[in-house]
Amino acid sequence: MRRFTYETFAARVVFGAGCAQSSLAAEVERLGARRPLIVTTPRTAPLATTLAGPLPVAGLFDGVRPHVPVETVDQAVELAARTGADAVLSVGGGSTTGTAKAIALRTSLPIAAVPTTYAGSEVTPVWGTTEGARKTTGRSRLVVPKTVLYDPDLTATLPAAMTAASAMNAMAHCVEAFYAPGANPVTDLVAAEGVRTIADALPAVMARPDDAAGRAGLLYGAYLAGSAFGAAGSGLHHKICHVLGGAFGLPHAETHTVVLPYVAAFNAPAVPALRTRVAPALGSDDVARGLTSLAARIGVPVSLAQIGLAEDDLDTAVRLVLEKDFGDNPRPVGEPEVRGILTAALRGETV
Ligand code: NAD
Repeated sequence: MRRFTYETFAARVVFGAGCAQSSLAAEVERLGARRPLIVTTPRTAPLATTLAGPLPVAGLFDGVRPHVPVETVDQAVELAARTGADAVLSVGGGSTTGTAKAIALRTSLPIAAVPTTYAGSEVTPVWGTTEGARKTTGRSRLVVPKTVLYDPDLTATLPAAMTAASAMNAMAHCVEAFYAPGANPVTDLVAAEGVRTIADALPAVMARPDDAAGRAGLLYGAYLAGSAFGAAGSGLHHKICHVLGGAFGLPHAETHTVVLPYVAAFNAPAVPALRTRVAPALGSDDVARGLTSLAARIGVPVSLAQIGLAEDDLDTAVRLVLEKDFGDNPRPVGEPEVRGILTAALRGETV
């Protein structure tokens, strides 16, 4: 057994169809809170107010925006102070959870989170805000929600494209957890189960969006993915996706789906668990082929060209990716390696 350090971010997790409706009031009470501030988006605001029902909430902040702009956090913190909120009730996807975390970082208010996508942020200590084009991220125990209510019924309204993209983003967290800096035997265990659960459930949900067992599987997989990512961290794959999203405006989750098989294929020779644990969890004898075959079954983009990257962007993309530090990647990463991965992903070449 290799020597390892495993830091857990223990939260209380309540999982089950209908639990957001039946258990929310009791969970908020467990936090010792009497007046939570609801944080959500305009689209999920009706759901959030229905769930809060008879709770004596302090107010509703539905100004969540992607990438958590600091001005939205300023507004929410001001509303929390003005209304005497004593907790944050977050109902929504990763952007909503991210906003709740940024509020908690400034106010120390406890968070009860009701995730409605497969982002997994609700079980990680990672927070991020943006100011103009500048993104600031960090880790803090203060931002980890104290209680998370996973209710698969709430994800039934996720459109197909978002379902696929969000679930493949969770898959990327699981795969990358095997070689991220904090990888350890426990995160391996959690991530392998996440891969298996997502790979089993996703095709069923894409065929039938209201497949209750499939929706529950995906949400459970998202929880496992967030847990593995929160403890293990991320690596080469996320760094590449970060550049492609930031510099070329490529859609976050679709970028993950396309890039993942190429990075997995690149790292596989140095990470035996990708072959011995991840590939079988995908029902394949090869991790990259298992991922591309899953992508093909659910009909998502398979090349960066399909989601907006041009051949002419390649040199800039390679240069920007190389500005990152890859010292902790299991294989050395230089110009030829980055160019190889990006070229293959751009063209959707067979892995
Ligand atoms: P999102 O939260 O931005 O939501 C996208 C859209 O989907 C919004 O309009 C939202 O209202 C809508 N939506 C949410 N749930 C819905 C539902 N059930 N039915 C219908 N519509 C719904 O998207 P996301 O993919 O959940 O989150 C992405 C963000 O999360 C990224 O910014 C990413 O960086 C962040 N993230 C952070 C962590 C972390 O640990 N900090 C982890 C994963 C992702």
